[in-house]
Amino acid sequence: MNSKYEVLIIGGGVVGCAIARELSKYSVKAALIEKEADVSMGASCRNSGVCHAGFKYAPGSMRAFVAVKGNAMMDDLCRDLKVKLKRIGKLTVALDREDEPTLHKMKENGDANGVPGVRVIYQDEMRKIQPGVEGVAALHSPTSAIVSPYNLTIGLAENALANGVNFHLGQEVTAIEHQADGDWLVRAASGDTFSAKVIINAAGLFAAEVCKMAGINEYRIYPCRGEYYILDKRLDGTLKCLIYPAPKKHAAGWGTHLTPTVDGNILIGPTAEYLDDPEDFACTAEIMAQLRREGQMLLPAMRGTDFIRNFAGSRAKQTPPEVGGNADFVIEDRKDHKGFINLVGIESPGLTSAPAIADMVSGMVKNHITLTPDPAFNPVRPGMVDFFEELSPEEKADLIAQDPNYGEIICRCEKITKREVLDAIQNPLGARTLVSIKYRGRASMGRCQGGFCIPRIVRLMRDEFGWKPEDFLKRGKTSPMFVGNMRPKGGAA
Ligand SMILES: Cc1cc2nc3c(=O)[nH]c(=O)nc-3n(C[C@H](O)[C@H](O)[C@H](O)COP(=O)(O)OP(=O)(O)OC[C@H]3O[C@@H](n4cnc5c(N)ncnc54)[C@H](O)[C@@H]3O)c2cc1C
Repeated sequence: MNSKYEVLIIGGGVVGCAIARELSKYSVKAALIEKEADVSMGASCRNSGVCHAGFKYAPGSMRAFVAVKGNAMMDDLCRDLKVKLKRIGKLTVALDREDEPTLHKMKENGDANGVPGVRVIYQDEMRKIQPGVEGVAALHSPTSAIVSPYNLTIGLAENALANGVNFHLGQEVTAIEHQADGDWLVRAASGDTFSAKVIINAAGLFAAEVCKMAGINEYRIYPCRGEYYILDKRLDGTLKCLIYPAPKKHAAGWGTHLTPTVDGNILIGPTAEYLDDPEDFACTAEIMAQLRREGQMLLPAMRGTDFIRNFAGSRAKQTPPEVGGNADFVIEDRKDHKGFINLVGIESPGLTSAPAIADMVSGMVKNHITLTPDPAFNPVRPGMVDFFEELSPEEKADLIAQDPNYGEIICRCEKITKREVLDAIQNPLGARTLVSIKYRGRASMGRCQGGFCIPRIVRLMRDEFGWKPEDFLKRGKTSPMFVGNMRPKGGAA
């Protein structure tokens, strides 16, 4: 099958989905192609979920520009997409006098980058913001925020879909050709082809591979894995703001820190380890032990039983391990490959920057085709920001009266109702894996990690889709949930 578009985006992470949503404001035939069974399966679901203020990046750099602008765009965007965003601010802490000059340097950067309200503060003021915090001084950045990275990506994608962008999930791009008529031809592993006047490479960890397919050979990505622990909600409220150590020169990331999530958990991590395989998301016993040790030092109230789950993500670095640090984002409209818009090395703060990158990319698309605003564009995604559990008793009673499925709990730990799970199952993108349901409805994210709710969710999916056991996938086609029935249907118990 060949599908013809004006613009084709490769990659359904937060950057690709933000571009899709930005383009959906115009009357343009656009599509996004993603190799996984859902959007937000790469770095965009495997990060700290911090909307960075932008004081750490060199003035004049692309990272500084898109981070500060993206941060400022987040309130309106999250309001429209019904995604939780909490402006809790950040303390970047100097543990000793040696780290203090770093704070002043970051304050200068912040001022030069136009970051609002950054100040160096000292112990008394630090402790008013976060009681008990250690350290001699800190940089306070009030615009630092937290956001759910997968909810943001899914929200962008669903809103783009509602406004007319097509999504081709489970389609891996394997070859790209520039045709004689000037259009690009993109071949997928399935045998399907896609043609477009403009293609946008938003393939994250695979951006350099996609470049090579189009004949651009100058980039290389060095995946750098970060592992995390997720802590139980018992500690919700312990952290009043983000608390980071002052960064060390040439470090690959910020160093291990504690990050509250919008849903009330705390993340410990991420570590930094260069690997060859961009999709090696394993968590290792050694690093888990290190995180438990470091976590307990940073937050003495933590108990062994608070560690409920771990995960890892990889940063798409352009700098090899022997260089360390970060290179600037590449966001370019290739003059030598007309109609190829290229995004390479979008590591942190790519989540923060995604709306600003999308804005910049739509400007580049205008170099190739006319973008006329679509008067029918609706920026608002239907639904609620909060989960049922977070509503007032009156609001809950109203919803149950409207739909009794709100009155049945499917996920006991997170108190997620049958209606919320059904909504996640019936999602407009048609994503059908257990992980897709988890990211949309939060069911199975609590203490028992799905021990109670997964059998119930499986039954709901079976009733909805009439599936056989072999049809259930955890994350994608390489992770089947079941191999078949234990005994023939209708057999004796
Ligand atoms: C440990 C860690 C912590 C981070 N913390 C933060 C943070 O707190 N704040 C912040 O702002 N940023 C953070 N980041 C950075 C942020 O996560 C990324 O910059 C952002 O998610 C990048 O989005 P993306 O869309 O470019 O890439 P991705 O989310 O990786 O999306 C790329 C997509 O392209 C698809 N794809 C690849 N190849 C193909 C192909 N051949 N065909 C079809 N599809 C393809 C992939 O499957 C993937 O879905 C962190 C990153 C990591 C790893």
